[in-house]
Amino acid sequence: MTEKNRRAAALLHHRAVALKRGEPIAPPIVQSSVFHLPGEPEADYQYGRFGHPNWDAVEAQLAIMDDAPCVAFPSGMAAIASVLYTNLTSGDRIILPSDGYFTTNAFAQEFLSPMGVTTTLHPTATLHQLSFDGAALVFLETPSNPGLDVCDIAAIAEKAKSAGACLVVDNTMMTAFGQRPLDLGADIVVSAATKAPGGHSDALLGHVASRDDELITRIRDWRRLAGAIPGAMDAWLVHRGLETLDVRLERMCSTAAVIASRLHDHDAVISVRYPRLKSDPSYSVGKNQMDNFGSIIGLTLKNKTVAEAFLSACPSIAQTTSFGSVHSSGERRARWGDAVPDGFVRLSIGCEPVEELWTAIEKALVGAVNGN
Ligand SMILES: *Cc1c(COP(=O)(O)O)cnc(C)c1O
Repeated sequence: MTEKNRRAAALLHHRAVALKRGEPIAPPIVQSSVFHLPGEPEADYQYGRFGHPNWDAVEAQLAIMDDAPCVAFPSGMAAIASVLYTNLTSGDRIILPSDGYFTTNAFAQEFLSPMGVTTTLHPTATLHQLSFDGAALVFLETPSNPGLDVCDIAAIAEKAKSAGACLVVDNTMMTAFGQRPLDLGADIVVSAATKAPGGHSDALLGHVASRDDELITRIRDWRRLAGAIPGAMDAWLVHRGLETLDVRLERMCSTAAVIASRLHDHDAVISVRYPRLKSDPSYSVGKNQMDNFGSIIGLTLKNKTVAEAFLSACPSIAQTTSFGSVHSSGERRARWGDAVPDGFVRLSIGCEPVEELWTAIEKALVGAVNGN
């Protein structure tokens, strides 16, 4: 039995221990902002900003996945902001990936910098070469989004520890079923359940996980006082999504491996990034710390025109941003200003049967190249 499978099985039955005879197996959606509270304010649930049954249900699942206490937030960015606001103070320096999720860097620039927090940007692939001396916090994403470069989490954790810096890993790309940064020495994990955990393009949620109880208490206090709280329905949707995450990821990652290797061999393609390709720069570090190789493929086509023609011509690829859904999707990342070629497409592989998806992709690819 693998550790991942143990957690996947436990997740499906987490409610069993507390269930009384006649209670529902699926958690009810509790659409209430207030709770019956006579006399002294002592009850598990008091007011909707302090605590809520649907947060508890989804946090119990996430805690099993990360093997750590978890705090749910209304989005991945709310989770990230809570960690940065609760851990930093004026005069601190932080290290962020220059090739990471754009919004995290924008947040640091807009809101941390005026508070006196300075930021050093550094690429993921060479993070191990950077000195962490004097840094209060190191933030990493591996594989990076959208470039799919990786860094060795255990080695970075050791470096951060000896420099006295807190290591935060954004694990959105992999989820805890694909990679467990806390087991590799990270202090804090943040993640957007908006992506694969929700998985159906219908909910936003984020979470913070840490084995440091004091830190988790502070994050929970932050949520209660700042008011960055998830809605009951989104928490419920992600709870439902997490129950099939393991099986969806199996399909998505195995399909991604097939599609990536066929794209890699295809004449119409300039280059492909996918960590499972043995020729990929991320393969050797990735295989040591990842339980799967993910469902995201970086596909570079000749130019913007060919890339847009490909996306428009493929009925099996939803033209949208985000990733990790049952619906395969794709977009040209340069449209958001990412430092990638104009013809770079981030493909997120969903749950379509592999040969149907490949047939649609190849037809659109050949059409786009021949037509342009
Ligand atoms: C999407 C994403 C986020 C932010 O999640 P939201 O739910 O959109 O706020 C953070 N980090 C990474 C790597 C992401 O892909």
